[in-house]
Amino acid sequence: MALYTYLQEQLPSFMQHLEESVNIDSPSKHKSQSEKMIAWYIKVMHKLTGGRVHRYTNPTYGDQLRWEVGTGRKRILLVGHYDTVWPLQESIKRPFRCQDGKAYGPGVYDMKAGILQAIFAIQALSRFNRLPKDKTIVLLLTGDEEIGSPTSRLILEEEAKKAEVAFILEPPVAPHGALKTWRKGSSQYTIQVSGVSAHAGVDHDKGISAIQEITYHIQHLHSLTNYANGTTVNVGTITGGVGRNVVADYAEAEVDVRVQSQEEAERIHQLMMSLQPVLPGTKLVVKGGINRPPMEKTEKSYALFALAKYICEQEFSCSLTEEGTGGVSDGNFVAACGVPTLDGLGASGDYAHSPREFIWVKDIPKRTTLLARLLEEC
Ligand SMILES: [Zn+2]
Repeated sequence: MALYTYLQEQLPSFMQHLEESVNIDSPSKHKSQSEKMIAWYIKVMHKLTGGRVHRYTNPTYGDQLRWEVGTGRKRILLVGHYDTVWPLQESIKRPFRCQDGKAYGPGVYDMKAGILQAIFAIQALSRFNRLPKDKTIVLLLTGDEEIGSPTSRLILEEEAKKAEVAFILEPPVAPHGALKTWRKGSSQYTIQVSGVSAHAGVDHDKGISAIQEITYHIQHLHSLTNYANGTTVNVGTITGGVGRNVVADYAEAEVDVRVQSQEEAERIHQLMMSLQPVLPGTKLVVKGGINRPPMEKTEKSYALFALAKYICEQEFSCSLTEEGTGGVSDGNFVAACGVPTLDGLGASGDYAHSPREFIWVKDIPKRTTLLARLLEEC
């Protein structure tokens, strides 16, 4: 039986598992919920396929889980995060449901369906004795991606360095399910300015305004945006001052930077670190740095996309496209270790991080088959 036919038959079982997993809330910062989620995945992995499970205990956020199937020399890494942006009890307010061919619920698109696709793809290969003998398939699940992967980054990088290929189970690009062949990198900074406070009516000339000072930098930073080369610099928040009639002695701004190459990330970083006060008597401190390196499109990562496109044409006579995004994922950390990485292999749908979030049910067997065939052919 063809994998695709089998995975179509498995759809009711897939949906039942998806319902269970979506209805277990798993916010990044809720340890006991993360434990429940992890226990559920371990149960499902053992029930469906076996393999070897290693659990990395984590004192702060959810544990990471590494599931290995096969014993071949070539390691293929699959990466997913089970944490969602949704708070506790979100699934009670709006539990998993299906309507008009779409499935809804907290984290269904980002990215509980993607994780299950990987599990079902491996299960299908195993069922038909098609697990590649020369490969070890490694599925790494993490629980803190939505807050920047503070405790899983090192584990991701350790696995990435051992892998020959990596597939990221994040949502694809809506609305057509395009895969992601590159992602911008991101840097985050805080600019703190201090001046001298004074009564705005009585002693205005004795004050030095931190707000006036920070506005020069805000203008300068925004002028660094260059859409042509993919660089954006955004001052997202400003705070400062204590009252209308006081010359402000303090102001602060938070800055988000997105770039398409590591070289550009470093160039902007140098600029940020060399900012100097404009008004005499003010002090300026810049904190922060490069957060996620860019996932750059390489010849080898593009070859993975070309393989995925070929598989879609052969298996379902349908076309597949690729795009890039300014959004970041764990794919950024993995790709920066030099492993060819293809991202956006999760379920097709739309509206990540919104209550409107959904996936297309009819596409699940196709996307799962694509993943299984990639594991065979890569
Ligand atoms: Zn995600």
